[in-house]
Amino acid sequence: MNQTIKTGYYGDWGGAFIPEVLYETFRELNIAFKEAKADPAFRQEYLSLMGTYSCRPTPLTHAENLSSHFGGAQFYIKREDLNHTGAHKANNVMGQGLLVKRMGKKRVIAETGAGQHGVATATMAAKMGFDCTIYMGEEDIMRQRPNVFWMEKMGATVVSVTSGTKTLKDAINEAFRDWVTNMEDTHYVLGTVCGPHPFPEMVAWFQSIIGQEARKQILNQFGKLPSRVYACVGGGSNAMGIFQGFLQDRTVELIGVEAGGKGINSGHHASRLTGKDASAGVAQGYKTMFLQNDDGQMRDTHSVAAGLDYVGVSPILADLWQKGLVRFSSATDKEVMEALDLTMKREGLIPALESSHAFVQAFKEAGELGSDEALIINMSGRGDKDIFTIAHAFDDPSWKEFIRKKGAEYAA
Ligand SMILES: *Cc1c(COP(=O)(O)O)cnc(C)c1O
Repeated sequence: MNQTIKTGYYGDWGGAFIPEVLYETFRELNIAFKEAKADPAFRQEYLSLMGTYSCRPTPLTHAENLSSHFGGAQFYIKREDLNHTGAHKANNVMGQGLLVKRMGKKRVIAETGAGQHGVATATMAAKMGFDCTIYMGEEDIMRQRPNVFWMEKMGATVVSVTSGTKTLKDAINEAFRDWVTNMEDTHYVLGTVCGPHPFPEMVAWFQSIIGQEARKQILNQFGKLPSRVYACVGGGSNAMGIFQGFLQDRTVELIGVEAGGKGINSGHHASRLTGKDASAGVAQGYKTMFLQNDDGQMRDTHSVAAGLDYVGVSPILADLWQKGLVRFSSATDKEVMEALDLTMKREGLIPALESSHAFVQAFKEAGELGSDEALIINMSGRGDKDIFTIAHAFDDPSWKEFIRKKGAEYAA
């Protein structure tokens, strides 16, 4: 995996470190994407699909109770949780699906860790009539049984990956192996703004719909631009999605929030830009800041939010970080649970554990702003999927009893 194509760099970051057999496939993909991007009818088709199959434009909600609770900025929440399958991932997979149609391919593959990207890809494949294979680590399959169930019910084949640590990074390797063998009729639907060029650019382009809508909505509803915009950062796609709407506005500060896990100095986190144990490296086809040891071995990451639990980060965000155009912070598992609790009680919203990271940082900073200023939090997804983790964290005894009884009922 050491051949370099000298395009697709963002400052020092990115590139396309791919095996030679995939050159032609990447060339084809680059051309198809460039043509689609230049074709206004393609964006129109995309917008129309997202408006009828998902829930676009997603609303921007004024959270009045949180605003008065903190006594500072006006809180506005961008509701990506209202997308089909419950998160911003739909924006990416549906876009790539339309591109696959344009390229005339018939089969899609994807990797998935927590299963959310797998479910989103399976819905897209069902809707567009593609064969679909999802690679998932054996460990993750056991942990995410409901998502595996839905993928299979929508007609996808879920392949259990038993190599290595049997988790996400092994699933990625396996998906690449499949692609190399079947590239003629197969497209690899990468799940975030990472990986070899053109994936970061392509996924960012589809996700930019979030920021375009949010900018218009805040001007309509609040009458001026926000002072700050917050988003959680796993691979970085929801953050890039909303940030792109405001990158030209120098008065708007952009804040990315990584997973602080058990604490940024604990060794159990996924903070690639705010942590001290990350360094520049090349893996999985691109150059970025990775959590790795001195020998370049990927370290184990930890977050209560499965979607943020990843060793790398978008090369585009690494560049914006280096240039000081996006500020980064992190939130611990414990802070995330507290922020989630407050958001549920005050606003009746249930943000995903991933999204709750962005809420944490906004809560810390709201008081620095005046009540005539606004902040936007990108609520990347809904928390329904996290019910077991949340109930466990709040140590709810009635819930434990419920699970025990249900378990016995199902076993009977
Ligand atoms: C997958 C996921 C994320 C992390 O992915 P990004 O590429 O960083 O956006 C964040 N929030 C939710 C709800 C997710 O499902």
